[in-house]
Amino acid sequence: MSKKHLIIISVDALVGEDLEDLSELPNFRKMIENGSYTKNIITIYPTLTHAVHASIMTGQPAGITGITGNTRFTPGDNDMPWFNEYSEVKCKTIFELAHRAGLTTASCRWPVTAHGNEYIDYLHPEIMDRDMKEAGGDWKKACELVGTTPCLMDMIGRAVAKHGSELVHPIEDEVQIDCVCEIIKTYKPNLLLTHPGFVDSERHRTGLFSEFVKSGVKKSDDWVGRIVEAAKEAGIYEDTDFVVLSDHGHLPYKYFVNLNGFLVKEGLIRLDANGNVKDWDVYAQSCDLSCHLYLKNPEDKALRERTEKLLDKWIKENTCGIESYITTEEAKKRFGLFGKFSYVLEAKEDYSFEDAWTEPLIREYPPVAEGLGHSRHGHLPNKGPKPVFIGFGPSFKKECIDGGDILDCFNVFKRVLGL
Ligand SMILES: [Zn+2]
Repeated sequence: MSKKHLIIISVDALVGEDLEDLSELPNFRKMIENGSYTKNIITIYPTLTHAVHASIMTGQPAGITGITGNTRFTPGDNDMPWFNEYSEVKCKTIFELAHRAGLTTASCRWPVTAHGNEYIDYLHPEIMDRDMKEAGGDWKKACELVGTTPCLMDMIGRAVAKHGSELVHPIEDEVQIDCVCEIIKTYKPNLLLTHPGFVDSERHRTGLFSEFVKSGVKKSDDWVGRIVEAAKEAGIYEDTDFVVLSDHGHLPYKYFVNLNGFLVKEGLIRLDANGNVKDWDVYAQSCDLSCHLYLKNPEDKALRERTEKLLDKWIKENTCGIESYITTEEAKKRFGLFGKFSYVLEAKEDYSFEDAWTEPLIREYPPVAEGLGHSRHGHLPNKGPKPVFIGFGPSFKKECIDGGDILDCFNVFKRVLGL
């Protein structure tokens, strides 16, 4: 059995600016001062959680992983279902490589690992709202629905008894961290990936750099400290490399845009008497601060021409919050982003896209309290605050780097595990 251990903690939406003042972040400070720290990481496009996590675990951009956003394209559904099945990832993951090399693997609420039991020995996948709904609110059933490894059910039960089973932050993060620590102490896996999402949810709720976000970062520092302690208790600390990384930044916004409603107005989406989508020629799938635009028949030249004219007009007149658009051919060249959509639209500052087509087509999103705001992601990876990568342990030398590519993380994981 290999003595090497790699623990990867993705602190969702953590950015370099969060780590400028380390005075109240003892665990991050220790890792940054003694390990390898890279800030201003360029992530993939779109900068959405499930797409980026699929890319982190494969080293491939969204077009190749097949996880081109958070959701599957299901026109007519104003709340499209999320990608979360491991089998939806179209290329080899670090779990598969490690497993094939005889290493033991674990995933604790890492996105897009549901039913990934073939390559993940200790699996507690992310539970989506739809899973919990299908399970009638029963956490045990929800765990079973996503393929949780049976031997983990007792430890999840203990964590749920202590913190609760609601799918809200930081409750679900507390459950997750308890389980991570128990998995490390009980099974000592060679590879473990986990994904606390509290910082991200506070950014969504209260804006890019609020006091709530600061508290979320502090809490995440505590969680990282607990995981390091668990490795010490398990007696594997000396052989363990820790990676703390993040998936994307955020940008502030104020307005939701129901882009499909504008397409209804143009007659490019038709509704039935009940207001449901009957059929369509052009359809928008939200990636929050960007959007994928599908043509029913991408070979239809007249439709392409009409669509491009419409987009140009909308941009010029600022009708529906579009900043710019590129064809999928261009998105493939520049970002490795491709799929069945024909265009990728980027939102204008302060605007964010939704899947719905109902009135009001544009609506303001008031802050939860005065002085606060809201932020979101999905935008071009060169915009705004950027994610970080911290490597700490025997495989990392002391260094500080400005700039890097998120897809390179995969090679670092392979190097650390000797794959
Ligand atoms: Zn995220």
